[in-house]
Amino acid sequence: MSARLIESMGLLCQLLEQASPEIAASALLSEDKYAATGEALIHERLLSTGTVRSYVTCPECLVENARLVKPCNDSNVLLFCDDCGDIECPRSVLQTYTVNVARVVERLSASLSLPLASRKAIGPNSSWRLGIQERRRGAATTWYFGRRLSRACEAKALVDQIKLDQAARSAKILTSTRLPLCASSPLAGYEIIELPSVARLSQSRFLFYDNRLQDVEHPSAEDAPSGNSLAYVRSRRCAYVNGIKYQLESMQQKILLALMDAHAHRLEAQQIAARCGSSAFPFQPIKYFGRNPLVYKTFVRYLAGDKLYVLAEGD
Ligand SMILES: [Zn+2]
Repeated sequence: MSARLIESMGLLCQLLEQASPEIAASALLSEDKYAATGEALIHERLLSTGTVRSYVTCPECLVENARLVKPCNDSNVLLFCDDCGDIECPRSVLQTYTVNVARVVERLSASLSLPLASRKAIGPNSSWRLGIQERRRGAATTWYFGRRLSRACEAKALVDQIKLDQAARSAKILTSTRLPLCASSPLAGYEIIELPSVARLSQSRFLFYDNRLQDVEHPSAEDAPSGNSLAYVRSRRCAYVNGIKYQLESMQQKILLALMDAHAHRLEAQQIAARCGSSAFPFQPIKYFGRNPLVYKTFVRYLAGDKLYVLAEGD
């Protein structure tokens, strides 16, 4: 039972990554690799019956299309294939199943005990703010769920909402997409978690492995970048230079994030000040890196001619 429910998460995510999260009943329920997991998803009402097709891949030759001619009786239909001719087969070969995406989202929120009031759909059926969770006073986590995040347009819509929510530093994004995303994704640097790695299907809910969510917060040294990286500035307030971790002071984090989030990663000094909430004038970023000079030297460049600070991506 348990292994089947774990595998069901994989199938659910695979379907969620399709433009239309639909699967033919014949594939879902007859192919060995899906049968048990598919039934579990149907039982949990995460898959509902979808459209009935009038064409299917011919069940005889498995090559040509076979079209529906007429129903034979309550349970069988007559199909016609150019190669095989008339074929009588169970009506279920024409049936499809579709992921009930709304129910997936509702169940994710409920399973994380998130208040309904903070849930919001973002973009057309692609990502959602699941809700805000206050772990302790003043420390909130804003949970999001996104599907198809390897597509730049879906990723951007989600990032735009996170910025509107002013949740860049508190965002945790669950996804059905396989990670990692490419380095140029608008979501680069955000904390993204593959759903099957932290949760499995359970009865009427998703069961989150709390210890794995903790692991995401306190990652092991194994996933530390080996070279220069700003990937963890936002989520863990640290930067890596030559594989060595440098914990950042709050202002250092704000300055780097200001540049990371800026168009073309370029800003004037006072624009950085504004984004960091500083009223210092003139604003000189280097002054804030007294204890982390190597981080500054590695990631920030000043273009004297343009009076612009730019982010050096560390290479
Ligand atoms: Zn055929």
